Amino acid sequence: MQLLDGKLTSNTLKDEIAVEVSAMLASGGKKPHLAAILVGSDGASETYVNAKVKACEKVGFDSTLVRLEADVSEEILLNEVRKINENPAIDGLIVQLPLPKHISEIKVTETIIPEKDVDGFHPVNLGRMMLNLPSFLPATPAGILELLDRYDIETSGKHCVVIGRSHIVGSPMSILMARNTKVGNCTVTLTHSRTTNLKEISRSADILIVALGKPEFVTEDMVKEGAVVVDVGITRVKSDKTKSGWKLKGDVAFDEVAPKCSFITPVPGGVGPMTIASLLKNTLKSAKQS
Ligand code: NAP
Repeated sequence: MQLLDGKLTSNTLKDEIAVEVSAMLASGGKKPHLAAILVGSDGASETYVNAKVKACEKVGFDSTLVRLEADVSEEILLNEVRKINENPAIDGLIVQLPLPKHISEIKVTETIIPEKDVDGFHPVNLGRMMLNLPSFLPATPAGILELLDRYDIETSGKHCVVIGRSHIVGSPMSILMARNTKVGNCTVTLTHSRTTNLKEISRSADILIVALGKPEFVTEDMVKEGAVVVDVGITRVKSDKTKSGWKLKGDVAFDEVAPKCSFITPVPGGVGPMTIASLLKNTLKSAKQS
């Protein structure tokens, strides 16, 4: 079993991005600039946004964090998005999800102009992805592709099973793994909560990508010997062993599943850091395009 080390790989990727930023500055260009909007003060969202801002500093980007109260109106939030859309100094914009229930996530996503949609959630970017046209790929699936690529995992002709069909992870992941691209050309099965014979399907996976948000859902008996397992799940669970009172758990029961795998991502230190690195990559791409 070999770890797919997202922390190590994302650091390599960030070093490469930092070199590109230095070259851009040396040739008279400006620093790429990522803006993030955080609504409310949910602990997990705070952690993710802070990690993104810190990553910007590490690679030499500028960053702006706009904080709004949890009870902010949808219109005020949309106006903040429009202001950033029109600000030529800013190359990429993310709005940290989830949003409070009174705000429509799809409305917010559709208000971000596709040229600054570095999370890759806008229908235009998702549509372009479907057609294999240049676009911003959703950051988490893009990070997974990068990880599989950098570990030289053969995907062509393999059976890839994706558990979870969310718009931000499972569904785009299934499309990307089926595309005729270097990491791709899989035969893909996309599963969800209505799938009746999940264990049978997951046991036939050469590559199993798990994104459902249920800690340690995938057990040893659901995985084929020699499979590549990618665990997207991140759930905070109570722990009396940590200072914070919680720890992160993936969707895969790592200790029992890992010995069966050829490759597996850990949680933390797997897909999470790759998501942030992909976001930076998309922002760099946007800065180059503008
Ligand atoms: P989501 O929107 O909550 O969707 C969960 C999906 O799992 C749904 O499609 C649901 O099916 C399916 N599901 C639920 N129970 C199931 C079951 N028993 N069997 C099969 N499928 C089942 O999830 P998400 O936003 O993709 O997030 C999934 C996990 O990934 C969460 O832990 C999240 O925190 C994590 N995440 C991590 C990163 C990262 O950077 N590492 C990024 C994004 C998300 P239905 O559609 O039928 O309801």
